[in-house]
Amino acid sequence: MVNNKLLEELKEQQAERLCGTCGFPKDLNQFYKDGKDKEGNTKYRRDCKECYNKTRVIERRNKLKTTQKPLTIGTQTRRRARK
Ligand SMILES: [Zn+2]
Repeated sequence: MVNNKLLEELKEQQAERLCGTCGFPKDLNQFYKDGKDKEGNTKYRRDCKECYNKTRVIERRNKLKTTQKPLTIGTQTRRRARK
């Protein structure tokens, strides 16, 4: 019988993964782990560490922008609530 676990470990060590954001193949250790799937295999994020950090910065900026405009958000929700 083939030791599946050992094979999987080897695969993981050698595997390269295409980043979903920049599209470059990168080593698995360039990706953040994202928990485990149902079978207990380690999952990795779609985007590499570099892209993840970039998007986090952008998200933070976007959040700052939206929090600076609380008035427009407020009027929109009021209109919806009236119906
Ligand atoms: Zn990337």
